[in-house]
Amino acid sequence: MSLASPCASHRGSSLQNEPEFLSIVQILEDQQANLMTTDVFDDALVRVRNYGEAAGISSEVLDLLMHANSLVQASLPVRMDDGSTKYFTGYRCRYNSTLGPTKGGIRFHPGVSMAEVQALALWMTIKCAVAGLPFGGGKGGVIVDPKALSPMELERLSRAYMRAMADVIAPQTDIPAPDVYTNARIMGWMMDEYEAITRTKAPAVITGKPVRLGGSLGRDDATGRGAFLCTQELARRRHLIPAETTVAVQGFGNGGYHAARLLQEAGYRIVAISDSRGGIYSPDCFDVASIFEIKQQSRRVQGVYCDQSVCELVAHETISNDELLALDVDVLIPAALGGVITKHNAGTIKAPYIVEIANGPIMSDADAILEKKGTIIIPDVLANAGGVTVSYFEWVQNLQGYKWSLNQVHERLGDVMTSAFSEVWDLAGEKGLSVRNAAYATALQRIGEAIDAQGTRDYFRQ
Ligand code: NAD
Repeated sequence: MSLASPCASHRGSSLQNEPEFLSIVQILEDQQANLMTTDVFDDALVRVRNYGEAAGISSEVLDLLMHANSLVQASLPVRMDDGSTKYFTGYRCRYNSTLGPTKGGIRFHPGVSMAEVQALALWMTIKCAVAGLPFGGGKGGVIVDPKALSPMELERLSRAYMRAMADVIAPQTDIPAPDVYTNARIMGWMMDEYEAITRTKAPAVITGKPVRLGGSLGRDDATGRGAFLCTQELARRRHLIPAETTVAVQGFGNGGYHAARLLQEAGYRIVAISDSRGGIYSPDCFDVASIFEIKQQSRRVQGVYCDQSVCELVAHETISNDELLALDVDVLIPAALGGVITKHNAGTIKAPYIVEIANGPIMSDADAILEKKGTIIIPDVLANAGGVTVSYFEWVQNLQGYKWSLNQVHERLGDVMTSAFSEVWDLAGEKGLSVRNAAYATALQRIGEAIDAQGTRDYFRQ
């Protein structure tokens, strides 16, 4: 049951304290500089190795997970509206298919790199195993600032990506989905291109499609809902009272917005929100629906992406994204990009609970600092698994040719998320592990058992 929102609507408030304009590219350059010194893929491998060894996973299994099954890099030629041709670099990584076809989103972003795609694909491998889904992990990306493209250029780029990757992507092999700056419409274009190439109807080739093109009901808010369910489970175990619990959300996109909306509907106090241009803070908390509505209205009519920042929309104190991370709130939800909490700013984090919607928002050296402080982190591989879970439901419905109701989707998502949370939380309690460590141990155990079932060195040398 949802409780009435404790927050008054700030709709129509004047635009105060406009922040200095920061382009997404500027922010990304800062972030890339950060990631270049600490390679995000190396960081992901270190985590798997350390957590795996601590959980007693065999070296044979861990060695296998140190390498991607396959990694494709392609040049994507796109005819621009002015008649010229631009070449974009695209990647698709099938990291590990032990548990099933590889599954993972496609990111359109200037900060995409080969290392990032591999790290994200490795995390998808872990995530699908934590949630108990019959999928391995994959990921894709294109180095592009999609906000600089017209809608028709964006469509051509999306189709070019599918043309380049159609040899590795297929309903029983590798199934993409949306990620940062890709959406249902883009998934629809890609599906259409795949069907044109293969001369088949193949809705199960991609998930997160528009509902009318075979998408699942409930996929749009699944990632945020999964994070919301995890926060509820956390609150139940830590005796947090929603009306007294303050929440800061970095990133107001698909994941961040829906998590903030559902948390507010359940009575939590959303006191800070940000997007790529900066953040807003109000100790009285925000009305999330109003902010979303105004942000939608301010969208350029033909634009695919919002052109305005939340900073320009409501009465607030403006804060930077770094300031948001350091707020004295109960729950911090990083829901934008990876690598935002490093050893350099981990000491400034005050929130006792972090729920990771973004993939890899906390680098492993920062994890150690936060763990020492006693911060409880619900890791990405668990907290954002709602998206891939409903993607799995979409794939199943496409293969069955049968549609589920929204209630069925919500009920089944609730079952998957709460049982995954309980298994991981209980293991953490039993073994005295961090929640992240317990999530990795659960996933690696499942992947390890599947690899063992095919025969490892111990079996063959008998
Ligand atoms: P999105 O494109 O819908 O939204 C991204 C949001 O982040 C936008 O509000 C954008 O303004 C903001 N942003 C971008 N750069 C930023 C910066 N430097 N600082 C602060 N905010 C910034 O993306 P999404 O789908 O919500 O994905 C967000 C994160 O969640 C990503 O890390 C993604 O990998 C992860 N995730 C998403 C899904 C999903 O189903 N959408 C599933 C699992 C994980």
